[in-house]
Amino acid sequence: MRANKPKGLSINKGVEKPSSLNTDAIRKGIYKKAENLPLAKYMDGILKGDRMILGRAITLVESSLADQHEIAQRIIEKCLPYSGNSLRVGITGIPGVGKSTFIESFGLDLINKGKKIAVLAIDPSSDRSKGSILGDKTRMEKLALHEQAFIRPSPSAGTLGGVARKTRESILLCEAAGYDTIFIETVGVGQSETAVHSMVDLFLLLMLPGAGDEIQGIKRGIMELADLIVINKADDNRIEKVKLSQRDLLNALHLFPPTPSGWTPAVEYCSARNGSRLDLVWEQIRKYEDLIKKNNYFNIQRKDQAKYWFYETLNAELKRQFFEDNRIKKSLKKFEKQVLSSEISPFEAARQLLETNQKNTV
Ligand code: GDP
Repeated sequence: MRANKPKGLSINKGVEKPSSLNTDAIRKGIYKKAENLPLAKYMDGILKGDRMILGRAITLVESSLADQHEIAQRIIEKCLPYSGNSLRVGITGIPGVGKSTFIESFGLDLINKGKKIAVLAIDPSSDRSKGSILGDKTRMEKLALHEQAFIRPSPSAGTLGGVARKTRESILLCEAAGYDTIFIETVGVGQSETAVHSMVDLFLLLMLPGAGDEIQGIKRGIMELADLIVINKADDNRIEKVKLSQRDLLNALHLFPPTPSGWTPAVEYCSARNGSRLDLVWEQIRKYEDLIKKNNYFNIQRKDQAKYWFYETLNAELKRQFFEDNRIKKSLKKFEKQVLSSEISPFEAARQLLETNQKNTV
């Protein structure tokens, strides 16, 4: 950038996404040696709660290589009977609201209560650029070191849908490894929240005190997804402001239609940094879990989600097969040219191309 360029007009480069691999280990060639293990070894390791094997199995799930994909699918199938026994909690909020700090303090508290915590992430920026919004998860250093915790950064390659699908599959592996509380973290751009919402039992929105939702950059509709809103950074000197925000949020929530779970979304506040009032957040989560288990919404929602992912996967796979077909690739360019030169309407072009595909597959 030239020195005389006004600063306000410059665009900051996104934070470079850190490698999820240990650079020291790459240098020493440790990862190169990690060839696929036999299926039984993965299963044995996962069921014993071996974090290293679990990590390697998730790497297979995230891989786009065909042979790895195949073994990953077999691992997932084998994990299925052992999965489903966790509480899956989605956490979102704008960058800087304190997601990492919250997950770390809250996670450590829950470990003290005897829980095993897995933290997975969906970074919505992964399909756009090399920048990462969620950034480096080494921020949760204490939690990461704890042997009752497993932290995994967002899968990095692919579309948001692809990243979300891999995360949803990784949940099953974490459950089979005995993690009973699973946090799925994401950050405020509408679609990634919808993706997270479709794989969790409870959706928690972290907010800052004293600012309206539009000021906090939270898209409309996100608040409607929340089962629990937690105002973070409720440090001692801000309690009055926090209570005002709590009241405003409760008023705003009353304007929304009732949730299908029969639960009225709650608004709590805490200080993730000081660890204060985290017990009250947990109490709300427990109340919600009790309610949805009693009224069966827990199972209904999980079934709906399984159906959603079934169709999502079908859609994605059909699309992938279509666009990767060599004949389609060729015709696609031809039709695109014809559309651009107005020789044919976009609708007719699409219809003819789909017809070609059908002829190819019969
Ligand atoms: P994230 O981007 O949402 O993951 O936010 P971080 O957890 O990285 O937190 C952003 C900043 O807010 C860090 O400097 C934290 O130390 C700070 N922070 C997090 N929680 C609190 C809190 O409860 N009170 C105060 N005062 N600061 C906090």
